Amino acid sequence: MNKTQIKIVIIGHLRHSLDFKKIKQNKSSFFEICQIETINNIPSSENDNGYLDITYSRKETENILNNVNFEGIVLGIMNYRFDDNFYMHRSGDNKLCLSIADIDILLLNNGISLENFILKNIYEIVVFKNALNDLTSDDIYNLIHQDTRMCLFDMNGDKYDVVYNTEKPIICDECKTFLNKKSLPENFIKTLEKELKKIKKPLLCTVEIFIKKYPLLSILLTVLSTIIINLISNGIWELLKKCLTNHCT
Ligand SMILES: [Zn+2]
Repeated sequence: MNKTQIKIVIIGHLRHSLDFKKIKQNKSSFFEICQIETINNIPSSENDNGYLDITYSRKETENILNNVNFEGIVLGIMNYRFDDNFYMHRSGDNKLCLSIADIDILLLNNGISLENFILKNIYEIVVFKNALNDLTSDDIYNLIHQDTRMCLFDMNGDKYDVVYNTEKPIICDECKTFLNKKSLPENFIKTLEKELKKIKKPLLCTVEIFIKKYPLLSILLTVLSTIIINLISNGIWELLKKCLTNHCT
């Protein structure tokens, strides 16, 4: 399978320090992140809605990314909202722009990393590229569905739903049927599902969340595991003593 080359372009200042090294090091059969760049000097928003926060239209992000040249796919990431409240738009033939505004708070409050959210969206883009060939195709709307099924192609019209499909997203039966009609490399869906399962919390974070959620059960498990470790240690000690006694006599 030919890997899709990805260039990430950070647009303006991101409120959070993202671990792009981790994103870049993600091993995938589908894509590789080749370059990460920043555009610091961004134009003022044309949106004159009277509010002080900055919002951009799809066209404005297209203009911002206009001078970025890259053969593969360009993914702009910004901490400003889109004026239509969606979080990802196509911003040119091979370009997309992802807004993490609002979503950052939703994810972080639920112990989900923004790095995983970015990875999940890259997978979605790469499937579009492989299945539809043309990122500008309206066939995209035949794959994305409005209802939330914890699927990679959930629309997330209500941004809160990203909480349900950022980690270990599935490919629902309807999306599998759609993809199976397309000309895709061998084992495409199988490999995709395998890699999507790896979009998850680090083990330490999972343990921390479990302790916060079930404090009494955590204490009980700690006590039980301490007793079991003690019993095993005593057993080993008794066995050693027995062996040493037999050896000496
Ligand atoms: Zn689906």
